Amino acid sequence: MIKPIVAGNWKMNKTPSEGNKFSLSLIENLDSISDTDVIICPPFTGLNSVVPSDCYDLGAQNCYFENSGAFTGEVSVDMLIDCKVKYVILGHSERRTIFGEDDKVIGDKVSSVINANMIPVLCIGETIEELNKGLAKETVYKQLKKGLSKVGSLKDIVIAYEPVWAIGTGLTASSEKISEIHSYIRGVLTEFYNETESSLIPILYGGSVNSNNAEELINVDSVNGFLIGGASLDVEKFVDIIKIVDKK
Ligand code: PEP
Repeated sequence: MIKPIVAGNWKMNKTPSEGNKFSLSLIENLDSISDTDVIICPPFTGLNSVVPSDCYDLGAQNCYFENSGAFTGEVSVDMLIDCKVKYVILGHSERRTIFGEDDKVIGDKVSSVINANMIPVLCIGETIEELNKGLAKETVYKQLKKGLSKVGSLKDIVIAYEPVWAIGTGLTASSEKISEIHSYIRGVLTEFYNETESSLIPILYGGSVNSNNAEELINVDSVNGFLIGGASLDVEKFVDIIKIVDKK
């Protein structure tokens, strides 16, 4: 049985003081949540301002694969560990498209996060062009193959399937399509590793999840939770989604 996860990716939003206020309010509202792991991923500047709590874990939105040195503007795994970070989002489509990260770099990051005993949340998903050409499965296959190329065993990793065309657009993939791709992803993980390891990996869905569609989406076969952008910025909306997942 995979424990569901709801992760909020704040992207480049919220100052440290706004993040601090959000976390206090989240703590007040998460009393009754027991069967869902909640993760919040502030920008780097907000990692130390979020109030530590048993109610949620802290995630980062990125990191570099080298340990230290002349890499201006980058952040290492040790720096994240010192901020009590447990999860690191890697390969988000905005990192791939805006900042030009390729699968090789993402694979190096996944490996360095695992070696540091943190948990990568590896994001994969097709663009609208790939979808229209019928290449959704080929795309996620390639992203998994390269993103996991240095991963010997599948312990402690989370996969987030996020169709790029659904991120921040208000569009979501249909339940049937999500179910098909999630099952396909699990099949690929079985091919790369084995059924036991593959069956324990949480596969999250991401792409315009909100409190109106969360109920339908969490009931899709093979969906083990959500990675949420826009709706994670508002405590009420975020908590509504967490409650829906928790009562499943
Ligand atoms: C995301 O950025 O990972 C995401 C899913 O964003 P949104 O929920 O806003 O579509």
